[in-house]
Amino acid sequence: MPAWVAALMLAAGPAFLLAPTAAADSKPAVAKDARLAGDRERTRFIADLSKKVEVHAFALGNPYRVIIDAPDVSFQMPAGLGKETRGLVTAYRYGLFAPGKSRIVIDVSGPFLIDKAFVLEPRDDQPARLVVDLVPTDEKTFLAKLQESKPQDTSAGSAPPLPSPAPSPDAKPVVVLDPGHGGIDPGTKSASGTTEKEVVLAFAKILKTKLGAGGRYEVHMTREDDTFLPLRERVAFAQKQGAGLFLSIHADYFPDKPEIVRGATVYTLSEEASDQEAKDLAAKENFSDVIAGVELPSDSDEVLANILIDLAQRETQNRSVVFARSIVGELAGKGRLHTRRLRSAGFRVLKAPDVPSVLLELGFLSNPEDEKRLVSDPWRERMAGSVVKAIDGYFAKRLARNRF
Ligand SMILES: [Zn+2]
Repeated sequence: MPAWVAALMLAAGPAFLLAPTAAADSKPAVAKDARLAGDRERTRFIADLSKKVEVHAFALGNPYRVIIDAPDVSFQMPAGLGKETRGLVTAYRYGLFAPGKSRIVIDVSGPFLIDKAFVLEPRDDQPARLVVDLVPTDEKTFLAKLQESKPQDTSAGSAPPLPSPAPSPDAKPVVVLDPGHGGIDPGTKSASGTTEKEVVLAFAKILKTKLGAGGRYEVHMTREDDTFLPLRERVAFAQKQGAGLFLSIHADYFPDKPEIVRGATVYTLSEEASDQEAKDLAAKENFSDVIAGVELPSDSDEVLANILIDLAQRETQNRSVVFARSIVGELAGKGRLHTRRLRSAGFRVLKAPDVPSVLLELGFLSNPEDEKRLVSDPWRERMAGSVVKAIDGYFAKRLARNRF
């Protein structure tokens, strides 16, 4: 068999599994460049790799996407790649999806089939190449193929979350910090290129150290490095840890009035959004899973999950609001708030029925002053200090209530 080709034709639906190569080189493959070719009749995605890797390509609908998973690829692509539109492709992105697992997500404008997906061995002066060919199809065929080839690992699951184990009476309160985005999903980005995923991780690390220092809390983070985590897994992580509090940390972007719109905003979960801005923000934050190519639960799963959540959630919801007020109280008067109003919307990441959960937008990466603060360690220290006080205040209130 010619060593340079390992192609699987579309026979059993739009999923391809390529056999691993015999090469025992343990260094990750480096992806150096990528490009699009062809037209609407056949669009080709090509990525240059330092060596051949095992890939798994599959389709997702709503919105139309191609997902290409590979074990471990170091992406050293030229900046600004992935924004071009060609043929059926409207954009693509790449990055770490989970530890040791890399992913490329290609956005497609309409129903399609993956006609080919293969990796060519390097040859002469040519690098190894990942090649994916897309052809248009009708919606019915697309959906039929989708059913045939459910992805191996969507990491999303569809079961409603399970209740947390009851903590032992003298256990320390568990606080879970959730730096948003990560890996393939950078979140929002400032004009100068500062990404949300970087600033929220740096802030969360400082906050974790500060919170842990007093010995009063057990503190965990949903991610400690530049790894993507689906929203549902963040929720499940908090539940598994038996969290008494969950804080999802983000940074916002508002291009309309970049000079004026600045400061932190505190959000809780609600079915009806408190206002249009909250609704837009929730849509943007919920889009994280789409960016990373996670299959979203079907509408019926969502409805069922929501009913179950509603029953358990009222008390949790009240506590979330108490915590949110505590943060606003700490930040108010220090010039750090965008608005004192508590805002709420359908944030997926706040949906644990049994864990009081709040989403904190630290500031706006669209505002140059906020950006300076978000990357500054002294500012992060002060901001984290305020959040620690808010958490102390929340648990002090809970404790007082439990005693009486
Ligand atoms: Zn975010």
